[in-house]
Amino acid sequence: MREGSVDAPTRHPIAWKSEAFWDKDSLNDELERVFDVCHGCRRCVSLCDAFPTLFDLIDESETLEVDGVDKADYGKVVDQCYLCDLCYLTKCPYVPPHEFNVDFPHLMLRAKAQRFKDDGASVRDKTLTSTDRLLSSTSIPLVDITVNALNNSSLFRKALSATLDIHHEAPLPKLHSKTLRKRVKPLLTNLPAQAVGETTGKVALYATCYGNYNSPAIGEDFVKVFQHNDIHIDIVPKEKCCGMPKLELGDLE
Ligand code: SF4
Ligand code: SF4
Repeated sequence: MREGSVDAPTRHPIAWKSEAFWDKDSLNDELERVFDVCHGCRRCVSLCDAFPTLFDLIDESETLEVDGVDKADYGKVVDQCYLCDLCYLTKCPYVPPHEFNVDFPHLMLRAKAQRFKDDGASVRDKTLTSTDRLLSSTSIPLVDITVNALNNSSLFRKALSATLDIHHEAPLPKLHSKTLRKRVKPLLTNLPAQAVGETTGKVALYATCYGNYNSPAIGEDFVKVFQHNDIHIDIVPKEKCCGMPKLELGDLE
């Protein structure tokens, strides 16, 4: 048998419109099966907190195996996955076409989706994941200065902790009313694009919510590096949140 991960993995589409995807017993069976493969491998232990959480649950169980873990605790593992895809893309030797067919992030997403369907999300999670609305309203000139000042006030942070359940010591990103889009506009030139290989030689920058409102210097530097190297770069003319924060909640719709 060929070792897995030697070739590019086969990514199966998520069958989220099928009935089986939403079946609780089938999900628990699949979680148990994949957790057992991971238990025997443990290669991803350093990637995120999902794997140490799983391995602690197993090591502290009576049987020292996955069958000793209470299924009600599976959610503790799911909570720690933020769907970065690293385990699938860079570590796992058992991704399809390997017969073990392990796609850990897709499985975590399925578990998140079932939980979101049953329980919805807290006000905090709904608010923080509505990035377009939240960031565009708080990064208006002067509003950004006020919000940044409030976020640095321990009194306000304690109030935020009590009302919205955002930990008072959690670092909050700074807001910038001079967004990446505003900074980059005057920099853009009509540098002619030179086709290279199979490409048109043009680069389009997607600012992202964080890049646009919270850390605009990254994209600004990015544009300058491309221009310095005579590569045509533009910023995507219109954009919306990619939906990743909602996906992390399991809000597939
Ligand atoms: S996809 Fe989830 S489980 Fe995998 S490395 Fe990223 S956070 Fe961890
Ligand atoms: S996801 Fe793959 S590589 Fe990572 S611990 Fe599980 S089986 Fe091992």
